[in-house]
Amino acid sequence: MPKLDPSSDEFRAAGHRLIDWIADYLDGVDRYDVLSRVKPGGIQSQFAEVPEAKGKSYDALIAEFDSKIVPGITHWNHPAFFAYFSITGSQAGILAELLTAAINANGMLWKTSPSLTELETLTLGWLRQSLGLPGGLFGIINDTASINSFLALAAAREALGLDIRGRGMTGRDLPPLRVYCSEHAHSSIEKGALALGFGADGVIQIESDEAYRMKPEALAAAIARDRAAGALPCAVVATLGTTSTASVDPLPRIGPIAHRENLWVHVDAAYAGSATIEPSFRWLWNGIEHADSIVVNPHKWLFTPIDCSVLYTRKPDVLRETFSLVPEYLKTTDSAEVNYMDYGLQLGRRFRALKLWMVMEHYGTERLCGVIRDHVSYAERLATELTKRDDIELLAPQSFSVVVFRRVVRRDGRVDEEASERASTELLERMNASGRLFVSHTRLRGRYGIRVAIGNGATEWKHVARVLEFL
Ligand code: PLP
Repeated sequence: MPKLDPSSDEFRAAGHRLIDWIADYLDGVDRYDVLSRVKPGGIQSQFAEVPEAKGKSYDALIAEFDSKIVPGITHWNHPAFFAYFSITGSQAGILAELLTAAINANGMLWKTSPSLTELETLTLGWLRQSLGLPGGLFGIINDTASINSFLALAAAREALGLDIRGRGMTGRDLPPLRVYCSEHAHSSIEKGALALGFGADGVIQIESDEAYRMKPEALAAAIARDRAAGALPCAVVATLGTTSTASVDPLPRIGPIAHRENLWVHVDAAYAGSATIEPSFRWLWNGIEHADSIVVNPHKWLFTPIDCSVLYTRKPDVLRETFSLVPEYLKTTDSAEVNYMDYGLQLGRRFRALKLWMVMEHYGTERLCGVIRDHVSYAERLATELTKRDDIELLAPQSFSVVVFRRVVRRDGRVDEEASERASTELLERMNASGRLFVSHTRLRGRYGIRVAIGNGATEWKHVARVLEFL
């Protein structure tokens, strides 16, 4: 029988070509339209309806990738990608991904690749120090913040002491459980709560103040109301760097309320957490001593290719009690302290720590800090330029690398809300149709806003300045 890969000759030649392709792509990515222009179905329709029986050469496949697949790529690695949260497939991260695929290790247990487990523990210790987070935190890498927040809420539910793991949630007398978060919390919090049986009614969205930060007094009132009605408060999620405006919930005031009420405190710092590698942004962690769990996404703003999200917790035992289930074939006799499969839902685990290690070691914290500082300074400069114009209004205070604005249309000295919305959507569509940049939108207190989030490692002021060219 033939082997899958009879020799490495073709691989070696194609691999060299691909590294050149990647280097050319990174050097020239600004030549592409940021947002793909294809119509739905336009990519799929180019391909055969049945798969290839005989196989094709890498050369033929690279040509097809260029001609058929690249046109359907929205270029997240483009320096003028400002939509959602922009991300970076850095050179160091790309090389590590290559090695990860080559080794193809599965880190379910320490012994299934000791390096995978130990590098995860090591890099998360480094990351914790680099971000100025306190000691005593256990860390684990998963794919996304959505999954990490789900795991944290599962641990919070278990920490209630109701033996939900053992007895489940149905066919017994349980009070309605409650999770609190700001009205600006990411939808992943509600999704996680839905999957865990809190129900949509169990997620209480707390009102925010004029700068879109959770109001602690509204949190305290909601908890009191729920207790009086017989519900059982379980967890509060503080978002440090919200999706729409990068606002920061007041953890120093939320934490003591949560402690008094015996709630698990989960901190979602998926985006802004990375900024604290720069010491001047460490105020973000004020009140972090109250947190039971924290999520930070190196794949958002720490130049690590997607996916790589870190969950830290002060209570790994609770996470373990929630998720550990070891069938006979996975029992081990070694003295390893951590088998990461015990701390989450998935069994098989990619070697994601390798790319975080490569990024941290290759660039070093000083360079990472410098790039983050530049991003924030571009956002400050953009906000300053925008506020000079009387046809533009900032809808939120500029925060970290996020700026939200709209075009305002006035009639008889008053803002015409409908015309302002039309002008703002038209402006966004014109920007995105140009291919020169990609921005996304949000809605704040009913007002449509254009949202610019800077975060790609190749971004310079000249890319951000494109926003101003369209005004
Ligand atoms: N939390 C915040 C504050 C976010 O902005 C996002 C996504 O933008 C998420 C969580 C979800 O991140 P992920 O895509 O890693 O699940």
